[in-house]
Amino acid sequence: MDRSIADEAESYLHGLLEEWASPRPGECLACYLDRAVEGSGCDGDLRFAELYRDLVAPRATGLLARLESAGGYCDCEVLVNAMQPAWHLWTTSRELELDGQTIVLEAEPPASMPQCAGVRRGSTQPCRNWHRMIRRGR
Ligand SMILES: [Zn+2]
Ligand SMILES: [Zn+2]
Repeated sequence: MDRSIADEAESYLHGLLEEWASPRPGECLACYLDRAVEGSGCDGDLRFAELYRDLVAPRATGLLARLESAGGYCDCEVLVNAMQPAWHLWTTSRELELDGQTIVLEAEPPASMPQCAGVRRGSTQPCRNWHRMIRRGR
């Protein structure tokens, strides 16, 4: 393979990694996963959660097991089963009258999350934009 093309591909890949695959300073796990899954899609595993742990919270050795026990078997499921957008960010459900029929609009999660509210470095807790669905205890 042409050496310079390989180098270019590598630096291009590295640029992508810089953009969405590395946690920003103070960014929480949930906001990071939201961004990473948005950027690259979910691969059906916990690669971004694992990357976050390695880069930000290397001592959180039980993190992946904890996410799995909450139903988060891959990065996108974490954001459905283990953590959810905080209720105050959802639209409220409401009823509409239309041609004599009552239509119920269900509450919906936000289309896009606000900027991360920030967490202490080394924490695997979500910031206040998320609710943690993981049950405490053993
Ligand atoms: Zn997934
Ligand atoms: Zn956050």
